[in-house]
Amino acid sequence: MVRIKFMGATGTVTGSKTLLELDGKKFLIDCGMFQGLKRLRLMNWEAFPIPLEEIDAIILTHAHIDHSGYIPRLVKYGYRNKIIATPTTTDLCKIMLIDSAHLQEEDAEYANFKRFSKHKPALPLYTIEDAQASLELFEGLPYGERISLTANMTLTFRDAGHILGSAFADIRVSVGGEEKRILFTGDLGRPSQPILRDPHTVYNVDYLVIESTYGDRLHEDNSVKDELAKVVNESVERGGVLVIPSFAVGRTQTILFYLRELEKEGRIPVLPVYVDSPMAIEATEIFKKHFEDYDLESKKLKIEGEDIFSTTHLRFMKTREQSVSLNKVKEKAIIISASGMVTGGRILHHLERLLPSEKNTVLFIGYQAEGTRGRAILEGAESIKIHGKHVPVRAKIENITGFSAHADYNEILAWLSNFHRAPRKVFIIHGEKPQSEALASRIQAVFGWEVEIPEFMSEYVLT
Ligand SMILES: [Zn+2]
Repeated sequence: MVRIKFMGATGTVTGSKTLLELDGKKFLIDCGMFQGLKRLRLMNWEAFPIPLEEIDAIILTHAHIDHSGYIPRLVKYGYRNKIIATPTTTDLCKIMLIDSAHLQEEDAEYANFKRFSKHKPALPLYTIEDAQASLELFEGLPYGERISLTANMTLTFRDAGHILGSAFADIRVSVGGEEKRILFTGDLGRPSQPILRDPHTVYNVDYLVIESTYGDRLHEDNSVKDELAKVVNESVERGGVLVIPSFAVGRTQTILFYLRELEKEGRIPVLPVYVDSPMAIEATEIFKKHFEDYDLESKKLKIEGEDIFSTTHLRFMKTREQSVSLNKVKEKAIIISASGMVTGGRILHHLERLLPSEKNTVLFIGYQAEGTRGRAILEGAESIKIHGKHVPVRAKIENITGFSAHADYNEILAWLSNFHRAPRKVFIIHGEKPQSEALASRIQAVFGWEVEIPEFMSEYVLT
């Protein structure tokens, strides 16, 4: 008997965790942290409902914290079995999980300093040591290689096209001599994205567990590359600095890729480009190392000896001194720095200096959550608070919204249209309720398949 239990990413896009059980063996597909609303974040502190020694392996679809960030918590409480991920995901987790632990430790320190925690002293969800111990448990499984999880269950990773190293977990079980295929999409990427391959085409699945982040939305059609060219050129005309708050993993590399292309095509002038985020620098190194995961176009460039992440005058600012030296940069330059929502990190220093002048430009290239400085700036705040000071917002504010790494509903339906036959059941997770419901109705209307939006901790017998 195969059982499936939904332990996260139900009615939300965070905390991805699904338990799969066969012949008394248990596997956890993804082990994500709950993020965002306090109600969700508190769930990270609850005791894990299953004895950890009963989990035979964690299967990780990709490195994002909403899929991987709870691993060190389980390790803190005694999880010692393996974590199976693609080699690229394994490398990216080295920076993602350590950074996450660092943030947890900082939050606890801050709570103790401000004395607002009920717990005395406030403790981190996990420590850097817990994250380091997690990294020892990773075992790399390249795309396309089939391994046995039990005598009756195998796993193969297929490219999900979402971030570098992202994978579908393609699981085959044999029950009573009959083979059934269970596919977990993790996060489903978009076709025709730079650097990444398109999501793997799948033809037949018995049970599908699919995400629905954009189950009710369509991405804009405009080319982000054209928009970027326009923003860079207008920034040069204004004569100031273009500063881009960026997410360290994925988005920064995409921006570098486009800037390089635009320079080569002569569509923007050659400008000094500074990447001022230690994590983005490390992530770029991992992206350079794992060119086996690139799409054909990027692979070709790599083989021809091109560095697809390098503009003509690119500098990585690793040390604090290098970062501080950017204070001298007053015109015609691009600074890419984290965090992407201006919640912390080196971007704060740059914005404190650059926001007050009309000459400068701030370009947002990712989702800005409610309550963040990024959202406040986008919504037209006249000033924002940085380091306890009110900083006037006079710089030109730009926003490019087309950079999503998640398929929209048309892209999801297009991917599903490859299926030769109806799955026995489609489980829709990883979405806010309206998004999951919208995707469910569309799948029913277009294909007439049986769909289910599982509740938190609900359990189903598959076969
Ligand atoms: Zn993701």
